[in-house]
Amino acid sequence: MPSPEKTIVPPKEGRAFHVPRGRHIRITTPKGHQAADFFAYNAHSTAEWLSPPHTWIASCSITPRPGDLFLSRFRRPMMTMCEDGAEGVHDMLLPACDQFRYEFFGHEGPHPSCSDNLMTAMRREGHEIIVIPQPVNFFTNTNVDPDGRLVAPENIVKPGAYVELEALIDVICVVSSCPFDITPKGWEINAGGKVTELEVEVK
Ligand SMILES: [Zn+2]
Repeated sequence: MPSPEKTIVPPKEGRAFHVPRGRHIRITTPKGHQAADFFAYNAHSTAEWLSPPHTWIASCSITPRPGDLFLSRFRRPMMTMCEDGAEGVHDMLLPACDQFRYEFFGHEGPHPSCSDNLMTAMRREGHEIIVIPQPVNFFTNTNVDPDGRLVAPENIVKPGAYVELEALIDVICVVSSCPFDITPKGWEINAGGKVTELEVEVK
């Protein structure tokens, strides 16, 4: 059993976490192979959110690495990556999954999604989110081939893999256990389409 300060984000669900300036958030995939969509907002204004495209420019990388700053869309440093216990298998390119993504692959009827998880988690905090920001996709094996092709081969992240970030301003973070339980060829986001829980610790 996890200690009391650890929160389990159940499979296919999302949760919000308040992380004051100077505190850390650690996200773990206990069983491995599970994408964690990550969003962060200025706790005092949800108009300011963590923006991967602005972050690429600051870090000169499309993949987050220890020591890198995560910038807001106003180019303010919001968080920094302290530790990477997942061997660099992360992505900041794929948008959050949504109902349309599942319908595109032939799913009929409602399907949980990271976009809905974000809106629900933030609504519980009293914030209505209209625009879905580009997430940081921790534990997602997405690569750009030398010819520019985007590929998402099998998820190779090991059980117990984690990342730890420090908040540089007061933030509200949302962590979503990506509900991608389908396995279209070339887009196996979670290994075998199996969706598992995430563990989050604010310390
Ligand atoms: Zn997702």
